[in-house]
Amino acid sequence: MAAVHAGSCLCGGVAFEAEAPLREVIACHCTQCRKTSGHYWSATSVPLDRFRLTRDETLRWYRSSAEAARGFCGTCGASLFWKPEGEERIAIAAGALDGPTGLVTDSHIFTESAGDYYRPEGPPPRPAAKPARLSCSCLCGGTAFDLPGPAGEITACHCRQCRKLSGHYSASFDADETTIDWRRRDSLGVSETPGGGQRGFCTQCGSSLWFRSSAGEFSVEAGSVTGPTGGRLTSHIFVASKGDYYGIDDGLPQVGRG
Ligand SMILES: [Zn+2]
Ligand SMILES: [Zn+2]
Ligand SMILES: [Zn+2]
Repeated sequence: MAAVHAGSCLCGGVAFEAEAPLREVIACHCTQCRKTSGHYWSATSVPLDRFRLTRDETLRWYRSSAEAARGFCGTCGASLFWKPEGEERIAIAAGALDGPTGLVTDSHIFTESAGDYYRPEGPPPRPAAKPARLSCSCLCGGTAFDLPGPAGEITACHCRQCRKLSGHYSASFDADETTIDWRRRDSLGVSETPGGGQRGFCTQCGSSLWFRSSAGEFSVEAGSVTGPTGGRLTSHIFVASKGDYYGIDDGLPQVGRG
């Protein structure tokens, strides 16, 4: 019997199974993937006849372009799927898969759209711009806010929660919540996380936007910033729970090896 990969969103409202072999992982740095994931998106892909949803109560789809739709959880906001129109396959967020995947990341695409705070491979660049104001939004534009820039130090988090929600791993920077100027929050959803925190996401397009810890600390997903952040990735945390399908090769400090 072929091996079956199981996966789910963070809250469990969406769960699925995909029968091996799965395609190796492709990391996409396009603007859409960066907005939805909050950093950048990594996915495998499988023919539809080897994929099945085992729970789909909270699954929602956002038509992100004429060519494709993005599937996410309407309750927890996890970024889960990308479904190209007219193709008998579905791309699955590698971060949604449970347990060892046995996969490797074999390419990075749309690298010209990567954020200014990291490189797809190797050490992050020094920020070229220092924007005094950051403009953030989700992919569909239903939620948008501004805050003072530059972003400064950006932390990559590889914990299970960040991996499930982003579809890969998260990258965020601390912000003073009282300085946020909300331009639009019609579509804003807030989900409670297992550790007592709250996650802000768009209920129409599934984009990851911000996190508020149980102690009230507020951070903004770097991928939500439109244009330069003026920030720089400075460390990786919770690396003991990182996925097996990628390496960390940027030379930055790694915390929480477990
Ligand atoms: Zn969910
Ligand atoms: Zn949206
Ligand atoms: Zn995390």
